[in-house]
This record gives sequence, structure tokens and C-alpha cells, in this order.
Amino acid sequence: MDENQPEHNPLGVQNVTPRIGIPNRPAVQAPTNPLAKHFRQPAIYISLPSRGQYWESGSLDIPETGELPVYPMTTRDEITLRTPDALMNGQGVVEVLQSCIPSIKNAWKMPSVDTDVALMAMRIASYGHNMDFEGTCPKCNEEHSYTMDLRTLMATIKCPDYNQLMDLQAVNIKFKPQSYLETTRAGQAQFELSRYEKMVSEMGDDALDEKSKLATQQIKRLNELALDIMTNSTEYIIDVESGSRIERKDYIREFYTNIDTKIVQEINDYMGKLVEESNPKMQKVNCVGCGEAIEIRIAFDYANFFVLGF
Ligand SMILES: [Zn+2]
Repeated sequence: MDENQPEHNPLGVQNVTPRIGIPNRPAVQAPTNPLAKHFRQPAIYISLPSRGQYWESGSLDIPETGELPVYPMTTRDEITLRTPDALMNGQGVVEVLQSCIPSIKNAWKMPSVDTDVALMAMRIASYGHNMDFEGTCPKCNEEHSYTMDLRTLMATIKCPDYNQLMDLQAVNIKFKPQSYLETTRAGQAQFELSRYEKMVSEMGDDALDEKSKLATQQIKRLNELALDIMTNSTEYIIDVESGSRIERKDYIREFYTNIDTKIVQEINDYMGKLVEESNPKMQKVNCVGCGEAIEIRIAFDYANFFVLGF
């Protein structure tokens, strides 16, 4: 920056060559808190399975090294995560993710392939790399808890190959991971539906008409939910005959609404396999009770995931 440059350009033209995010002249700096050097420091650095793909522009700011610093949670973050409503609607997790991994500017846009790694990293940064998972032995039926190293688990998470198109002969489908916002919405809808299902099943037989009406509604809503998930997970569809690539969400949804249910099933299976690939792999251990070699499923329940840390 030229020291002799006047405070205000006399021509009234400022920022002739604007550089986004870098002001031409620093604003008057607030006095630096001498305690700032004691503020939290990054505990680990991670690279995301997506490598930044599938993030909307501006929602992620990857450092040159490709590795994102992860800070431990503050007390405020922990309180946010203990607020049941904020956890339920995803807002709490989003806030804490953005606080602990500042490279993430908008966690709602995070592709599902990155969620587990980001959460594990936050937990490692805050509570260390060991975490207990429960597993039941199929031989002796005993349940025990097994301590796993989250760093090892994190390394098993891979981004599925979304560039491989699903070939349905007449059309080819290109999938993409859902965003955190879409996943959260789908999860909430699923939760509402299961509550509704319980309510319907508890209705007495004297209300049989009402009961079957509600059950039909429920099937319709489940179907809508499945269509949403399929549409949100589709980047585009190629019509093989014309070679045209369809990216419009409304066209894609209409397509899924009007195809044979058998094909819908095939598509769902295919999508399920893609999602499965990005989940942490089962871990082999020996049963503490009888020594049998068993496999433990590594599942993350947001509430447990963080509350267990205390
Ligand atoms: Zn056993």
C-alpha cells in the first residue's frame, strides 16, 4: 500500500482495483486484547472427504494447504449444543460447526459426505480422540462398550464417486450428496411422520374410517419425502435419445413422480449404496465376554455424540 496515497481520492473514485475481502486501507484498529494470545488455538487440521466439491460458492473457504483448522468448543458452543430445539432443527450444530471450523462459512450448505468428518474433528478437538461405542455380541448376547480412536474412524470415510452416472438405458442420472439443510429437513419430516404413525396406530377401532384416511395421508407424505430426497440428490439427468441434460429441479421431480415404481426402487438402492460408502466403516473387535470376533457399527447421534464428552 502506498504510504503517500491521500486519505480520500480527490476524484471521489475509491477502490479502483477492489480486492474482495481486503480493504484498501485498514480501519482504525480496536486495541488488541493482551489476553488474545491465550484464546483457543486449532487442535487439529482436517481435509474434507469432498475436497470442497458440492459446496456452494462462498460457503467454504479452504486454506491453501487444503487443511482446515479445527478449534475446541467454547462454553458457549457447548451450551448451544445442549439446547434441545437448536439440536433438533440443526441450527445448533450449524452454529457450533462454524465456530469450531471457521473455514466453514455456511454449514447448512455442507454436503452430507463431510458431516461425519466435521463432527468427529470437533469432538477430537474438544474432548480428545477416544470415544466409546456400544456393541452387542451375536454369540453371547452381551453388550459392552468399546473404545475407538476417532482419528482411525475418520480415515475410513471416503467420498463416493458421484461422477459415475447411473445408467438406466433411456436416461443417465448424475447424483450429488444432499446438503446439511436438506438432510436435516428430511430427518425432521421423518421424525414427524413416525410420531404421526404412532398416533394413528394408537387410535381405537371405533374410528376405523378416520384411521384409514390418516394412514393414506401418511403414505402420501412418505412418498413426497422420498421424492424430495431423490430430487435433492440429483445433479442432472441426461436424456440419452436427445442428449439433453436436465438440471431443472421441477423437471427432475416430475420425472421421478411419473416413472415406474420398480425403477424408483432401483434408484433408491443405488443412492443408498452411495450414502453407505461415505459412512464410517464397521469396526472389528473381540467380544469382551467370550472373545468372539464381532463388528461394531459406528453411528452418530448428535445428542449422544457431544453429551458423552462431558
Ligand atoms: Zn460374546
